[in-house]
Amino acid sequence: MKVYIGDVKKEVGWTSKESLSKNFPPLSFGEEKIPFAQPVRVDLTVTNFGPGLLLEGKIETALIFPCSRCLEPFIHKMEAPLKLEFRNLDRITRESDFEAEAKSADDMYYYHEEDAEIDIERGVIDALLVYFPMKPICAEECQGLCPICGINLNQSHCDCKKTNIDPRLAALRKIKLEK
Ligand SMILES: [Zn+2]
Ligand SMILES: [Zn+2]
Repeated sequence: MKVYIGDVKKEVGWTSKESLSKNFPPLSFGEEKIPFAQPVRVDLTVTNFGPGLLLEGKIETALIFPCSRCLEPFIHKMEAPLKLEFRNLDRITRESDFEAEAKSADDMYYYHEEDAEIDIERGVIDALLVYFPMKPICAEECQGLCPICGINLNQSHCDCKKTNIDPRLAALRKIKLEK
């Protein structure tokens, strides 16, 4: 995902507005892959603040998560703010500057004076990850899977005897049994 900076980089104080849209490959988390359900859309303002460019805006997309209760994939819309700082590598000349840069290298990005475009794909993904749901659920009322037979309780019913015991009570019962 590339942002055109050919004009804005020329003069301190200049800004430009950009709207971008791109299909991203699925995100991998070990074995698990989370695919995108639609292109990633980014609206942002690029500001030349002297030592670099500040990119601020928002990201909109949708991803296909497996529901943490019933395991069925579902489309989850996402919005996230984006704020990236790109430093002009050719303006960093003093050694102390390099040291300062090295310390914040994690969330700092760079470009060269002659670059007409900068790639923001990694920054966009990092910004989205901050807003990833810890336990995505397909619906608030999702019934999940039967803990005994594993059937999806949103789609069908089973005859398993569910002992609806509060886990704290279950712990108490276990103590009694052990006596
Ligand atoms: Zn579900
Ligand atoms: Zn069951």
